[in-house]
Amino acid sequence: ELVAAANDVVAGLELVCATLAEHEEALARLDAVAGDGDHGSGMVRGARAALAAGIAAEHQGADAVLVAAGRAWAEYGAGTSGALWGAGLEAAGLAANTAGTLNTSTGVQAVGAAVAAIEELGGARPGDKTMLDAMHPFITTLTTSSTTESDRPAAEPAGGLGGESVRPAVWVEAAAAAGVAAAATAGLKPRVGRARPLAEKSFGHPDPGATSFAIVAMAVAQHLME
Ligand code: ADP
Ligand code: MG
Ligand code: MG
Repeated sequence: ELVAAANDVVAGLELVCATLAEHEEALARLDAVAGDGDHGSGMVRGARAALAAGIAAEHQGADAVLVAAGRAWAEYGAGTSGALWGAGLEAAGLAANTAGTLNTSTGVQAVGAAVAAIEELGGARPGDKTMLDAMHPFITTLTTSSTTESDRPAAEPAGGLGGESVRPAVWVEAAAAAGVAAAATAGLKPRVGRARPLAEKSFGHPDPGATSFAIVAMAVAQHLME
């Protein structure tokens, strides 16, 4: 079982920053197809603000790092994605606080809380061509794989939600599912957000927010394997 301390979450935020900086231009180009082209710069700005706030909150614990990071991301990130990533990270931190510890199992609950907060704030539905179209397969893979493991009478200790053991590889499987789903958003027409009036231009190109989520999810998941 991997238990994340505050400094692990800060290291995770550093990784998120570096990963987004690496993909900044590609995300900008994607958002320029049917948006305003600021998704790359906005995600990098939000992640950097989140990292700075997370470092300042490190002495308060892993959950407080996530809450502080979320509030900063919402304040300094790009309009829509910033507000949504901010709300998601903050909700993840509050869930970790409730769980009392952040490990590979309660981390699944925290991700579930983040996705629920993003749905609540943004009001988007599956198929609307948003980040949620990559987030849903991610959380579904996490929960079904961890439940399957807890049901399995294996040598492994019982796992699953709130249990003891979720294999780190499950996070990589979930991130891969997010990547497949993000690519598949190319076949959708946006029904919400800035891209909606430009739906015809957007068709054939993946959604920027779904793409950035899948990229970040894979980087973090691979890091969990190390
Ligand atoms: P903005 O549209 O304010 O410029 P960004 O370009 O950073 O913000 O983010 C755009 C992304 O936000 C979209 O690609 C989509 O994934 C996501 N998005 C837009 N509206 C919603 C919504 N209502 N719910 C979830 N995600 C959304
Ligand atoms: Mg934009
Ligand atoms: Mg914008």
